[in-house]
Amino acid sequence: MKYTDLKLQTQREFPNNARTQGFGWLVRAGYLTRENEILPLGKLMIERLKASDIDALDLSILKSENEFFFPLAAGNLEVAHCESCRYADRLELAQFKKNPLPREDELPLEKVLTPDCHTIEALANFLNVPKEKTAKALMYTRLTDGKLIFIVVRGDMQLSEAKLKTLVGDVRAAREDEIISAGAVPGYASPIGLNDALIVADNLIPQSQNLVAGANESGYHLKNTNLPRDYSAQIVADVTQAKAGDTCAQCGNPLAVSSAITLRTEAGVDFENMLLALAETHRDDKGLTLPVFASPFDVYLMHVPGKTINTLEKAEEIYSALQNAGVSVLFDNRDERAGVKFNDADLIGCPVRVTVGEKALQNGMVELKPRKEKENQLVPFDGLISFLKNVLK
Ligand SMILES: [Zn+2]
Repeated sequence: MKYTDLKLQTQREFPNNARTQGFGWLVRAGYLTRENEILPLGKLMIERLKASDIDALDLSILKSENEFFFPLAAGNLEVAHCESCRYADRLELAQFKKNPLPREDELPLEKVLTPDCHTIEALANFLNVPKEKTAKALMYTRLTDGKLIFIVVRGDMQLSEAKLKTLVGDVRAAREDEIISAGAVPGYASPIGLNDALIVADNLIPQSQNLVAGANESGYHLKNTNLPRDYSAQIVADVTQAKAGDTCAQCGNPLAVSSAITLRTEAGVDFENMLLALAETHRDDKGLTLPVFASPFDVYLMHVPGKTINTLEKAEEIYSALQNAGVSVLFDNRDERAGVKFNDADLIGCPVRVTVGEKALQNGMVELKPRKEKENQLVPFDGLISFLKNVLK
């Protein structure tokens, strides 16, 4: 395709709204607008990607069972992953190995006065127990039937709403009147003595003895609550969220947590994010350095206007020959200075640049430069195609 037919427009400046380097280069090279609309060059790149194997694109991908993620500091989601066994999943769904405290004998329930203990921290401080020895209560209302969902997790852990929703369906935070009508006292809520609630306990709770929980009485907590001795839970399952440093459920090594974007979900490939991931990965200080399977064109072909030889005509000849040989070409046919074209070739990032100039042509040669290498090489005009096919393998 010819540069002028593509109506390509590169930019001299980085967009000031660039969230990432990759986005900035995509805009400068004419793949995207500043507003993230995909331009014709970007559409051609996507066409190329549709025909490519994601594993051939040399991206560092984190793979869960159903999704592919690309780590990116500006990414909109968090992924837990294991460097040792390559396990990965969205943080809110990630599996991890929980560490129960040493087993204790169950002690009798004991009601204690706990004034102004409205947080787990305050409670743990007041009673001088670690947060691990407390039970945290969370209350939601199920959307479908208005049922109060009462969740118990160990005081040092965080609920994963995503895991909860996969177990009970969609929920919202419970209102105070809903909490009260289920028999709980806000601030001092306990799973013991509720009248109409679905109790969900994290699977660490049955392994945790003698936890401090609310007493369902204002100003009081209960020491030594034990499941199932003191209350029963309709659901016992993993409902807590992993954090960095937690133990990988697959191999026992610590999990890391990174911001990321999705490249593939169950709905299919996210090509906008693919463009961003590729630009983020394959770039230098002059522009993009795309691999063959991601570049919209294999070759950036250009001519440098000559004094005695019609280089444009020669370049046209090469353009047809390459296309006939199945090499895809972006032909910069503009009557521009060499420097302008070199800059654009670097920005756009096709794997190889072929330059048709007078001096080399006089010796039957053209100039070939792989995008990622510093040096040019001269290649015989006649042998160009086989030479290129080797470079593009
Ligand atoms: Zn692992």
